[in-house]
Amino acid sequence: PPGPRPPVTTTRTTCGYCGVGCALDVLTEGEDVVAVLPARDGPVNRGHACVKGRFAHAFRTSPERLTRPLLRRDGRLEPVSWDEALGHVARGLRAALAAGGPGAVAAISSARATNEENYLVQKFMRTVIGSNSVDNCSRLCHSPSAAGLTAAFGLAGGTDSFDDVERADCLLVAGANPADAHPVVGARLLRRVLGGARLVVADPRAVGLARHADVHLRPRPGTNVALFHGLAHVLLAEGLTDEGFLRERATGLPELAVLLAGYPPDRVEAITGVPAADVVAAARLYGRAGRPAILYGLGVTEHLHGTDGVRALANLAILRGAVGTGRGYGVNPLRGQNNVQGASDMGALPDLLPGYQKVTDPAARERAARVWGSEVPREPGLRIPEMFAAARSGALRALWIVGEDVCATDPDATRVAQALEACPLVVCHELFLSETARRADVVLPAASWLEKDGTFVNFDRRFQRVRPALDPPGEARADFAIVHALAGALGADLGCPTPAAALAECARVAPLFAGVSHERLDREGALHWPVPDPDGPGQARLYTERFATAGGRARLAARPYLPPGEEPDGDYPLVLVTGRRWAHYNSGGMTRRTGNLRLDGTDRLDLHPADAARYGLRDGDPVTVESRHGRARLVAHVGDETAPGQLFCAFHFPSSGVNTLTSANADTVTSCPEYKVTAVRLLIDSEP
Ligand code: SF4
Repeated sequence: PPGPRPPVTTTRTTCGYCGVGCALDVLTEGEDVVAVLPARDGPVNRGHACVKGRFAHAFRTSPERLTRPLLRRDGRLEPVSWDEALGHVARGLRAALAAGGPGAVAAISSARATNEENYLVQKFMRTVIGSNSVDNCSRLCHSPSAAGLTAAFGLAGGTDSFDDVERADCLLVAGANPADAHPVVGARLLRRVLGGARLVVADPRAVGLARHADVHLRPRPGTNVALFHGLAHVLLAEGLTDEGFLRERATGLPELAVLLAGYPPDRVEAITGVPAADVVAAARLYGRAGRPAILYGLGVTEHLHGTDGVRALANLAILRGAVGTGRGYGVNPLRGQNNVQGASDMGALPDLLPGYQKVTDPAARERAARVWGSEVPREPGLRIPEMFAAARSGALRALWIVGEDVCATDPDATRVAQALEACPLVVCHELFLSETARRADVVLPAASWLEKDGTFVNFDRRFQRVRPALDPPGEARADFAIVHALAGALGADLGCPTPAAALAECARVAPLFAGVSHERLDREGALHWPVPDPDGPGQARLYTERFATAGGRARLAARPYLPPGEEPDGDYPLVLVTGRRWAHYNSGGMTRRTGNLRLDGTDRLDLHPADAARYGLRDGDPVTVESRHGRARLVAHVGDETAPGQLFCAFHFPSSGVNTLTSANADTVTSCPEYKVTAVRLLIDSEP
């Protein structure tokens, strides 16, 4: 007879999928997940969760889960012991250092990993290797937010708490599809709109929220900056600005006014395709609201001029005095991955130490060196695209990738694969044999978010606890333990033996987080950064009296609209935009190994009925998409979500090869890829 059933244990943790940061109660019975319940007292989700956080956990016990280290021998990855794998990595790192110095080693840390793991990775790179060449995938999504918001207001976070949405009377949602990509945020936004807030949606696609918009602005992909300047033009022309705020708390108005004179609504219509009357109507809604708020997503940042897009949105809030005043709720990025904010907060960036302190600032380096007992290199390191270029050129001899499937998710994927093949040592932490892991020399089996201890920072700057509901399977280890083991293999000791100790140490290095600790989070719940004081509260609103710029004023930016890197032409007449679907998450490594696969089983190409008719395509037909960079095989999905001439697809199924299509064009300030504009053509009846 079966023995007694183990008791059900409930573990409160934070969802490991998107950046909303839903609090979840994971119910386990022995090694089984019985249920995942959204926490009613979750500060962001308040009893809600989406199809990913709630149901997509079967990946944990997938037979494909990696449970032993793998080492490449004679071209094949073979299971080996941890000692053997770590010994191989240590020898490879020493060889790379001997051949090329610290500049020959780079690390890609992870927005999926905890804060403590990111903190440890950057500390390893800076103190053990002696290089600032550590980056994370915010490079590929919201690095323009960090750059743009810092330039405008002084700090690299959204200006307000998401709770302020409940107080806003007008929402401008730009380049985001929260109904699919951030479903709990989408639901809360919709509830506010149904409760009476006015809604302006700026997105080329008829995304879910657009059905409820007072005005839906549909700019041609790549023309956001002109559209936002058009809105700002109307604010100025119709006296919808806050003159007292502009006089006392902002800089740059004369220069911006000169620039905006060149963006009347009819010119904006010519550039963007948005009717001039809609530009005026949207500007009046935002301009006349008592408490407007701006939320935006990757449709603003993933462009050749993504940072300019963020600055142009910030201009709107500054012109209205709707930031740092309580008369509006600023400019707020909807972050994509569970801990993409935290990975950057922790200093997994080539130019910034924990807490956004510049590596070029001697005082910041000294503060970190005092705590770490080691010099901090002063030269900024390589960004992710520069790492791949250095690998292809032979300058980079060891690349350490913590849980990112760069071969599936980075742009121009064919050249990414070439970079990995050219690099003498590629080490990868992974749950599964991803496209990247297949090309690695050493694959280290890692724990998932359900098996980890630490913290994440969500999209509105909340530190929240992550607690292990289960042990990792087999010999898999948390990234935290793997980083320590790698340091040990090189004869180094990183200190901070536990995640709690790592966050406590980070609090000593980064004044922005000085008051954060596991103990405090366990006792008080979530905390918004900045938390400068162990006894003081976190700051839900980033700015009140002053901004964090040198002079304490918000900065308007007079940057002209510049065209995207690729535009349709006779050879490639269509524009492809990529993004996410509701049931899956990024490369799909986890969600494809769950029942969510039955909800959505393939990457589809959305196209307008007019384009479908032109190419003789019907719903469900196979179709090959070709760009100047590669080819992808997809299934046609005909509908009017996309405008004529525009296509949309996700990148959840690496076998479809979507990111071989996207180009190496990138934001001129931050190197964030231009995922949102790729010129393509359709090949009918053509095999890839
Ligand atoms: Fe997880 Fe995001 Fe869904 Fe919340 S909305 S359950 S954080 S994936």
